[in-house]
Amino acid sequence: MKLIDFAKRAQFEEKQGFLIKESNGYNLLLNELQVGYVSYIVVLVCLDKAITKEQVKEINQKVGTKRISFSGKSNSVLMFQFDDLFGPVKEEKVNKAIDNLSTFTQVLAAMNLNNQSKCIFCGQDKEDEDVIFGNYNGLYLPQHESCRQQAKTKAVAKMNQENSNTKMYPISILLAFGGAFIAALIINILTYFVFDGTMYAIAYALVPIAAFFAYKLGKAPRNKKMIVSIIAASAVATLLIDIIFLYIVSLGYNMSFIDFLIENKTAVLGNEGMTLLFLAIGVWISWNIITKTNDSDVRKF
Ligand SMILES: [Zn+2]
Repeated sequence: MKLIDFAKRAQFEEKQGFLIKESNGYNLLLNELQVGYVSYIVVLVCLDKAITKEQVKEINQKVGTKRISFSGKSNSVLMFQFDDLFGPVKEEKVNKAIDNLSTFTQVLAAMNLNNQSKCIFCGQDKEDEDVIFGNYNGLYLPQHESCRQQAKTKAVAKMNQENSNTKMYPISILLAFGGAFIAALIINILTYFVFDGTMYAIAYALVPIAAFFAYKLGKAPRNKKMIVSIIAASAVATLLIDIIFLYIVSLGYNMSFIDFLIENKTAVLGNEGMTLLFLAIGVWISWNIITKTNDSDVRKF
């Protein structure tokens, strides 16, 4: 079943590019969630305050599902995930999903968890201005037009301020390298002394992440140059650490470092290839973090 077909069946309406339905006083937002190669139909609801994990558990129990969770980092946005609605779907599954949605909002109401209805920027009522629903960060949320403009201006100013910090590039790039170096050192120490020589690709995600936070400390603009710097710093740092470790190992043999490398050419090249492959996987895993550029706040509008 396609998203748009489910939207029709469950009576969602298109508003400003969103698929929206009001149910028991809640604004439900229908969306598609991509996890790797798999897509799910999800419904999001924004509450007016953060709720607890225990409350989420209680909601799941009362609705009779396990698929309601926090959406991302926000403890006030709930996501109801429908696992088996894509592809050919039996009629009763669709009906059950629609029933569950209705139960979901009834449970929220019974638990006194309220829909986000106040301006997300000022959180207050204004006598002379109504809140209107619209996009913010991919969600359909209430906002005053004046508050929205104010927040947007602020976000743009912050981005421009950071973009003018070009003289900090050398410091930030150096810090990125330092961060990557320390992370690579820790990973190598763990690989040799804790994991008995087994390399874990997931551990290599630490290298670009450390480089990202170190770069950020230097306060240079976070843009495409940053992403390139982080990847380059990560590659140089991991290879350098490998060479240092190889050098230490070579000391145990009665030959020069160059001779040691030539003698073990196949093993050394294999090892370096493996390191770069694992680092590439690490970059892929950490992609959402290391590509957090300084226009991310502006792009929310
Ligand atoms: Zn406001």
